Amino acid sequence: MKYFSTRGGGDLLTFEEAVLSGLAPNGGLYIPERIPTLPPNWQDDWKSYSFVDLSVAVLSLYIAPEELSREELRALVSRSYTTFRHPDITPLTKLSDNEFILELFHGPTFSFKDVALQLLGNLFEFFLARRNARKSPGERPASLTVVGATSGDTGSAAIYGLRGKKNVSIFILHPKGRISPVQEAQMTTVTDSNVCNIAVKGTFDACQDIVKALFADQPFNEKYHLGAVNSINWARILAQTVYYFLAYFQVRRQIPQPESSEIQFVVPTGNFGDVLAGYYAKRMGLPMSKLVVATNSNDILARFWRSGRYEQIDSSPEATPPSQGAPDKKPADGGVQATLSPAMDILVSSNFERLLWYLVYESSSAAPDGARRASAGATIEGWMKSVKGNGHVEVPVEVLELARRDFLAERVSDDQTLQTIKQYFIGSPSYIADPHTSVALTAARTVSTKNPPSVVQVVLSTAHPAKFSEAVTKALSTSRGFDFERDVLPQEFRGLLELERRVVDVDEPSKELVKKVIESKVGN
Ligand SMILES: *Cc1c(COP(=O)(O)O)cnc(C)c1O
Repeated sequence: MKYFSTRGGGDLLTFEEAVLSGLAPNGGLYIPERIPTLPPNWQDDWKSYSFVDLSVAVLSLYIAPEELSREELRALVSRSYTTFRHPDITPLTKLSDNEFILELFHGPTFSFKDVALQLLGNLFEFFLARRNARKSPGERPASLTVVGATSGDTGSAAIYGLRGKKNVSIFILHPKGRISPVQEAQMTTVTDSNVCNIAVKGTFDACQDIVKALFADQPFNEKYHLGAVNSINWARILAQTVYYFLAYFQVRRQIPQPESSEIQFVVPTGNFGDVLAGYYAKRMGLPMSKLVVATNSNDILARFWRSGRYEQIDSSPEATPPSQGAPDKKPADGGVQATLSPAMDILVSSNFERLLWYLVYESSSAAPDGARRASAGATIEGWMKSVKGNGHVEVPVEVLELARRDFLAERVSDDQTLQTIKQYFIGSPSYIADPHTSVALTAARTVSTKNPPSVVQVVLSTAHPAKFSEAVTKALSTSRGFDFERDVLPQEFRGLLELERRVVDVDEPSKELVKKVIESKVGN
């Protein structure tokens, strides 16, 4: 299996190359040359597989055996998930015969991002070690310097994924004093020598600008082999397809009529990585109903499914004018809006480009296949330029229709998010959801009113409620019988704030100062 860029260009990459380079040089994202179909007896053969067994079965369909043998893959996957606290890795909780929660937060940082990043760190280490083993003595070893900016969630999951990995260093910039205390503590209490937290005096945007400038700095980039772990890395998407399969089998064991039921996944969505993994599972042949994209009030995706316009600022006639003071209206400058589900606060969804590629490819009649791919790449390139330059693109109706074949989308406000947390707490069984999960639970309820009774919903839960204590406490502080320390706070978070920290302060948002930190740590 080879990979190519969503923005065209003839290059075909191996899995290893796609994983180590992240983004394509033309700005595109790597996708597999075809979506593999499931082997004929998968339903029977895979039905009692563990998470690790399923990872090997699914991932090996996307990775040539010459690149990674099944044994090598199994060893990497097994090692990656030993850090999870639950034997099922991504356990399923049953709320009723047609509502389940798929908990993705049992990894080291209590966020769903661990599922992908624990594996990504091991893949990096494996590929670099293999490259180095092939070098002659005295040659410079292959290495990777991962640089990223975070406003919370991704940074800690990336640090936990890469800590202690050989030939890899990681530098994570965060805006000093502007991320949640728990998230700051999670990142800065990691003391492995290959991890460096940089607290920048400035905003998250300033941090992100510095990271972009570093990647654009050709000599620096070449010297330090900069790498990214953001959600566009293909390995992250692939790792996430696995829990859709696991959930499918788990649900079927727990419902009265598996043969006549249909499973619907509901996914709290920001950069479209998690739900895109579900789309790959669907296209491979995993039976499921339409995927539900749940957004907060940063709703570019929900608006796309309504109108076919993919645009940063809502320009539709029914958009709430900024003057009307609605509690979660868009800011007048079109910037990202701070919500109670901050990991989904985005302006554009980077992985959406991958879905658009498939929609364009399928709606095209160009032939032969090479020409059809090239024309899809050219179209995506144009659309993405338009989004970047003008802030929007409008897709043809046949593309929108294809998007509607596989997805539904719902937007959820902060008020609804809080109400839903409360409803589920007082429900039976009682369930405490984090705000991101609550966005999806709310969307699931909305969609379910239109579902036939045979549909069983699986809501993906992306964070432990203790990570977003502010929203959870806000929702439940007046609920009788709620005690945050007793009901929510996990053992691992107790005492976290008092642990020794390691962080380098950078007193102004300057690329040069950050460069100095990296140079001094990675040296020559
Ligand atoms: C990253 C994240 C999301 C959004 O996932 P995407 O793959 O970016 O759509 C949702 N919830 C939490 C808690 C996250 O950390």
